[in-house]
Amino acid sequence: GEFVIYLQAQTGIDGTLEGAEALVRWQHPQRGLLGPGHFIDIAERCGLVELMDLATLRQGCELLAGWAGHTQCSELSLAVNISARLLYKENFVELITRTLHDTGANPLRLKLEITESLLLSDKDKAVLHMQALRKMGIRFSIDDFGTGYSSMAYLQQLPLDQLKIDQSFVRDLPENTGSLAIVRAILAMADGLGLEVIAEGVETAAHQQALRENGCRHFQGYLFGKPLNVEAFEAAMLPATEVL
Ligand code: C2E
Ligand code: CA
Ligand code: CA
Repeated sequence: GEFVIYLQAQTGIDGTLEGAEALVRWQHPQRGLLGPGHFIDIAERCGLVELMDLATLRQGCELLAGWAGHTQCSELSLAVNISARLLYKENFVELITRTLHDTGANPLRLKLEITESLLLSDKDKAVLHMQALRKMGIRFSIDDFGTGYSSMAYLQQLPLDQLKIDQSFVRDLPENTGSLAIVRAILAMADGLGLEVIAEGVETAAHQQALRENGCRHFQGYLFGKPLNVEAFEAAMLPATEVL
């Protein structure tokens, strides 16, 4: 019960709030608030990351179900990080379906983020699981895109909706010509494959401008907001009149 979600805004081209990414934190009774860097690797190694992801997913779905009743936030989406261990579990589809059912969250508002490198180990299983969930309206985003080794042919076979440009390519925009070339290539490829692109780690107006000039239309990063607890996120991002 000490794991909580923080929310970071995802915005559209004109700064409109489109949704959020749920990022797990450990509210430790002695050590205070801990980021995932302190515990994800350990959780993964001892086989607890699936449980943690499911707890995060459940909190996220409860939040979505609550938002659905408020006009100002009923259209917002929520991105949840899913580890490979969970994706490849035999009953993955059933676990997600059950969470949606229990919480009453709308699958159309849920986006699952999977890291590129994690998809490579068992593509056929990943495709089957993703296809089943996509039929329900859940969307899929590839996290840290550009840092793995996926080929275009490989990407074409996955039922994807979005690529998330890794923050390492955004950090040095626009000066770093290498980063700029990679960002352009990702945007062109996504366009050709009919995929949406979001950039993460957007910290400055110059980052956003460089991305926008090359066709990126969705953004996430400190420029728009740091990860906040749910209460602070709602207070900062949603109109003050709406008390949730
Ligand atoms: P990620 O999914 O790539 O998340 C983005 C990370 O970048 C977050 O760190 C976020 O706080 C940080 N960030 C966001 N905007 C900016 C920015 O403008 N500049 C900079 N420098 N950093 C920014 P966080 O929250 O520490 O998360 C680290 C990683 O932990 C995540 O990377 C993700 O891979 C993992 N993680 C987080 N929550 C979960 C979860 O529920 N399940 C699993 N399996 N992994 C999670
Ligand atoms: Ca992520
Ligand atoms: Ca990322």
